[in-house]
Amino acid sequence: MLTIGCHLSSSAGYLAMGKEAVRIGANDFQFFTRNPRGGTAKPLDLDDIKAFEEYRKENGITAVLAHAPYTLNACSKDAGLREFAKNTMSDDISRLENIDGAMYNFHPGSHVGQGEEIGIQFIADMLNSVLFPEQKTLVLLETMAGKGSEIGRNFQELKDIADKVKLNDKLGVCLDTCHVFDGGYDIVNDLDGTLNEFDKIIGLERLKAIHLNDSMNTLGCHKDRHAKIGEGGIGLQAITNIINHPKLRELPFFLETPNDIDGYQKEIELLKSLYRE
Ligand code: FE
Ligand code: FE
Ligand code: ZN
Repeated sequence: MLTIGCHLSSSAGYLAMGKEAVRIGANDFQFFTRNPRGGTAKPLDLDDIKAFEEYRKENGITAVLAHAPYTLNACSKDAGLREFAKNTMSDDISRLENIDGAMYNFHPGSHVGQGEEIGIQFIADMLNSVLFPEQKTLVLLETMAGKGSEIGRNFQELKDIADKVKLNDKLGVCLDTCHVFDGGYDIVNDLDGTLNEFDKIIGLERLKAIHLNDSMNTLGCHKDRHAKIGEGGIGLQAITNIINHPKLRELPFFLETPNDIDGYQKEIELLKSLYRE
C-alpha cells in the first residue's frame, strides 16, 4: 500500500491532524512543530496525544513527520541564532519523544558566506549537542535545492554532516523531489542513477522519507519552487516512476505541493491510482 499524505496545519493538535488526514485519504502527514517563521510551540497536550495514538492505530496512520521551522539555521553567522537553533531543535525533539515513531525533518542550514566547511561543522556541532543516546525520534536532514548558500545541495554535503555526528544512528535523510531536481539530479531521465549515487555516497538505508513535489523550474536551476503533481518540470510519468520504484515504494511520501486541502485530497487519490499494488 502506498504511504502518502501531505502537510497539515498543526493548530488544532494531533488528533485533529489525524482526523483530517483520514478524511482526505492519507495514511501519513507532516506538520510544522511551531510557526515556520519561528516563535514558541504550544504547550504539550498529553491527552490529545493519547487520543491521537489510539485513533491512529484504528485508522492506519503509519508515519508522522514533524518539520522544523525555517528560521532554524544551525550555521548562522550569529552565535545567538545558532543557540536558538539548538534550543529549538532540542525542545522539538523532547516533545516528539511522546509520539510513536515520530521523525523530525530539518533544513541543514545556510552558511551565509562562511563557506560549506564551516557550515557543515556548525550543523554537526548542533546535532552533537542536541542528540541523546536514549532518543527515539529520528532526525532527518532534508536534501536542498542549493539556493543561496544552502547546505545539503548535494548528497556529499549530507554525508559530510553525518560523518561528523557521534550519534549518527539517530540521523536519516528526507529526499525532496523538487529540491534534488532543482539541485541537478535528473530524477526524470535517470532515477536509477540518482538513487545509485545516493546509495554510494550516503547509503539508501538512511533514506527514511520522501517529500513528493513537482518543480516549477528546470533541472539544476537551484530555485526551490514547488509545483502541483504533474504540473511542473518533473511531470506525472517521473512521479509515477518514483512512487513505484522498488527502492522507494515502501517509504512514506509527503506532499508539499501548492494546494489547499481539497487539492491535496485529489493528488492523494491520483497517486494512489498510479501505485502498482
Ligand atoms: Fe522542507
Ligand atoms: Fe521539502
Ligand atoms: Zn522546498
